[in-house]
Amino acid sequence: MDCGIQNGVAGLKMMDGSDAMRLEPELQCIRALLSPVSGILDSHSLMLSLVGEAEDNGATFSYNTTVMGGHIKENRMCLEVFETKCLENWDSGFPSQPDMVLVPNLVVNSAGLSAPVLARRFGGLHNSFIPPSYYARGCYFTLSSTGIPPFKHLIYPIPEEGGLGVHVTLDLDGQLKFGPDVEWINGVDDISSFLDRFDYSVCTSRAELFYPEIRKYYANLKDGSLQPGYTGIRPKLSGPGQSPVDFIIQGKDIHGIAGLVNLFGIESPGLTSSMAIAEYIAARLL
Ligand SMILES: Cc1cc2nc3c(=O)[nH]c(=O)nc-3n(C[C@H](O)[C@H](O)[C@H](O)COP(=O)(O)OP(=O)(O)OC[C@H]3O[C@@H](n4cnc5c(N)ncnc54)[C@H](O)[C@@H]3O)c2cc1C
Repeated sequence: MDCGIQNGVAGLKMMDGSDAMRLEPELQCIRALLSPVSGILDSHSLMLSLVGEAEDNGATFSYNTTVMGGHIKENRMCLEVFETKCLENWDSGFPSQPDMVLVPNLVVNSAGLSAPVLARRFGGLHNSFIPPSYYARGCYFTLSSTGIPPFKHLIYPIPEEGGLGVHVTLDLDGQLKFGPDVEWINGVDDISSFLDRFDYSVCTSRAELFYPEIRKYYANLKDGSLQPGYTGIRPKLSGPGQSPVDFIIQGKDIHGIAGLVNLFGIESPGLTSSMAIAEYIAARLL
């Protein structure tokens, strides 16, 4: 609660379990922290709207292109850019010459899961500035019945190692989902990361792990009521069993290279924070 207040969240209220359960009759808890100003949004619409605004302001997006690395020339970061389709059959011969070398005034390495991998391919950026990267898949399950959802609020249990805990999320249509859990992924090579060749399928057997987690706060969850939803993968900076490491925004003041900003470990709530991160970079690092 103190942390929320320090960060300017209005209206936070600590509640007894009985008050919380009056608000959410299906919930079981001893105490709860109510955040009445928390909201949800349609992430795809937000992305489309940001793309539209950026293009209106003169931005050009280059789809189906992959930045494979970079080098410093005359104190500028030069990006080596390939057409993604050339990399897709890289087993049969990796193209050595980039299709294009870009020399921007400012490079923001916001490659998400691939950001540390890409940074390691920037010649001139010392390895000591690049954190180790770990990947943690999180999957969601939805309720198979299409009746009235059991909750009206987002419900977050106490966080677990590597994630926020299997919580309740609602979308704008009122559909409810539980997740995400934490499943560590190993052995991802650079190209697979750049081409997003991660396995995003939901392993149905993981539902067995969800039931006991959800029943800690929703005891009435019926056997067989969960069905696979979808998965996402978190770009973690700490691995299993390690103390959590927070995200990193890294500019010239840290790594010494003008015109390069690295964003490492931008996991949840990276979407919610995206405008704040952009404003921070614009104000402090441009
Ligand atoms: C399961 C799950 C649930 C989440 N829930 C929430 C939530 O409720 N609220 C919230 O705020 N956040 C949430 N997040 C976090 C949020 O999705 C991320 O923080 C956010 O997407 C990070 O944005 P980004 O632009 O840094 O990276 P990304 O969204 O990963 O975008 C990186 C982009 O870079 C591209 N790329 C990668 N490598 C290269 C390359 N070499 N060359 C060119 N392009 C490249 C990728 O294709 C991708 O398009 C969740 C994440 C997960 C996994």
